[in-house]
Amino acid sequence: MSDGLMPCPFCGKRPKVCPDTGYGAATVFCPDENDCPVQPVADADLKAGETVADAIARWNTRGPVHPTSSLTEINRPNAREEV
Ligand SMILES: [Zn+2]
Repeated sequence: MSDGLMPCPFCGKRPKVCPDTGYGAATVFCPDENDCPVQPVADADLKAGETVADAIARWNTRGPVHPTSSLTEINRPNAREEV
C-alpha cells in the first residue's frame, strides 16, 4: 500500500491524514502515538478550494539540509563574553 506520504522528518514514523477536520481544513500530521518531539502539521484550506492533496504535497515538501556548521556554531565558547 502506498499513499505517497513521506515519513515524518523528525521521528521517521508514519503521519496521519485527516481529509476534513470539520473546521474547513485538511491536515497531515505526526500523531501523539508516534511520541514525536516535534509533531509537525501540514494543512490545506478547504474553504479556499484546496484539497487533502495540497496538504499531502506540503507534508512531502522537504527543505535543504542545513550544514552541520550551524550546529558547531551553537556549541562554540561564548565569544561575546567581555570580562
Ligand atoms: Zn514525527
